[in-house]
Amino acid sequence: MQEDPSIDTKRVLIDGQWTRASDGSAFEVFSPSTLQPIAAVPKCTRDDLKRAIDAAKTAAKKMATMPVGMRALLLKKAGEIAESRKEEIARTIVQECGKTIHEAREEAWFSNIHYGDAAAEVLRHRGEVVPSTAEQGATSAGRIEGGAAKRILVTREPVGVAAVISPWNWPSDIPNIGLAFGLAAGNSVVLKPSSYTPMSGIMLAEIYEAAGFPKGAVNVVTGSGSEIGDALVSSPDVNAVVFTGSVEVGEQITRKAGIKKLVLELGGNGPIVVMDDAHIGHAVEASAVGAYYLAGQCCTAAERILVHQSIHDEFVRKLVDRSRKVRVGDPMLEDTDMGPLNNEPSARKVDAHVNDARERGAKILTGGHRKGLFHEPTVIDDVTPDFLVFQEETFGPVAPITTFSSLDEAIELANATQYGLTAAAFTSSLRKAFLLAEGIKAGSVNINETTNYWEQQAPFGGSKKSGLGRELSKWVMDDLTDIKTVTIDIEKVLDH
Ligand code: NAP
Ligand code: MG
Repeated sequence: MQEDPSIDTKRVLIDGQWTRASDGSAFEVFSPSTLQPIAAVPKCTRDDLKRAIDAAKTAAKKMATMPVGMRALLLKKAGEIAESRKEEIARTIVQECGKTIHEAREEAWFSNIHYGDAAAEVLRHRGEVVPSTAEQGATSAGRIEGGAAKRILVTREPVGVAAVISPWNWPSDIPNIGLAFGLAAGNSVVLKPSSYTPMSGIMLAEIYEAAGFPKGAVNVVTGSGSEIGDALVSSPDVNAVVFTGSVEVGEQITRKAGIKKLVLELGGNGPIVVMDDAHIGHAVEASAVGAYYLAGQCCTAAERILVHQSIHDEFVRKLVDRSRKVRVGDPMLEDTDMGPLNNEPSARKVDAHVNDARERGAKILTGGHRKGLFHEPTVIDDVTPDFLVFQEETFGPVAPITTFSSLDEAIELANATQYGLTAAAFTSSLRKAFLLAEGIKAGSVNINETTNYWEQQAPFGGSKKSGLGRELSKWVMDDLTDIKTVTIDIEKVLDH
């Protein structure tokens, strides 16, 4: 479509210029609550993308030589600007993503924390000096001597241009991990936000520009993932890809990107294991929060609830009561607990999973329907591992219950899918806690806490098909830098 003058038309930041698409085309962004268009954003062309990558390539040189203290200062400045805009960030998230205003304020908090964390991390991200072993070593060229004269420095340097491609469920926080830590590491960034939630990505670019980052250090291109996203990851001038999204697109990216640094944060299908000695009240609350936070559209959501058969009846009764108390409605209202699903394709996937469970004879104890994109909190009992809701990421407010009778069976069930992002387990036994934490294959295991819990200073990411690499803190800085070994011979010099 061409730009519609009746709705707010955004521009994108390419090479320091706020611009329309070069051919004037744009696409609409819809509110998941009202299904009405709320803005139009540029549908960037391949030429626009090329300009963004070229600008990032030029700016990467400036970023690489910028002293780390200056990078930290600019990040702190960006953090101050973001803090002054935090309510606006939250409201934009509600409008285009559909999460509640409370959830959106939490996201703005998480998003804004990355500036300071990245500024702190760059000041302590450092290399090593390693001892020379050359006198005992040998290579295909023969024996190497003179190790006593060698000084070996292992340094970290920026990769160059980082592509950040982000999903719609955390439209400010997730791209800002790649942006803040990518810039802290001395890279430049081309951001391609989700087409469902591009406005939050555009706001991030406004914040970095206002903070004074060099022209071209941050670029944002909006448009289709399969066109612009694909061309971005395939570009030989892009040195790293930080992608957060589905396993399907993650797999395409591994084929398209070629030899580049890859950080892939993909889907999850997190189990909550409730042992016979668990505090049932805490486990019920954690399951409800895990399944219904952000209407279940978190990569860390509790997608499967595995309950010991001896406590099944009490647990399920309490979870159904708790589920019926969730207030579903307009996400902008302060007393709403759960907003709509974000988009129709995602909602159809939830329908397919619930219908599959229904057809296989599972009991839908509460919920199971939707109006528009508003889906009821849903508890499904008697789920077995062959169900879609068990095998796949549902991404909706659904709590599927499967029973087990031993710790080994619980671990086997927890591991019985292709995903391994986050998991949780409830038990009063330290022994069982350790055996579960060690036995469940996942990037994070939370004991006596829901799946939707993470720490900003701890690594975050997935095992199995849930991803590659780790985000947050020093781990993402490691992924966004190259290691260089510098060997210096202090003897072969003229002044010796
Ligand atoms: P998605 O469909 O995979 O899209 C993610 C991003 O990739 C979007 O910006 C999309 O652009 C772009 N894209 C699509 N096709 C592409 C291609 N061929 N090449 C390059 N980019 C392409 O995922 P989503 O539906 O937005 O997000 C939900 C998924 O993200 C869930 O699976 C969720 O678990 C996962 N997620 C994981 C984490 C984590 O940290 N592990 C966190 C949050 C979400 P368009 O929007 O233009 O298609
Ligand atoms: Mg599932």
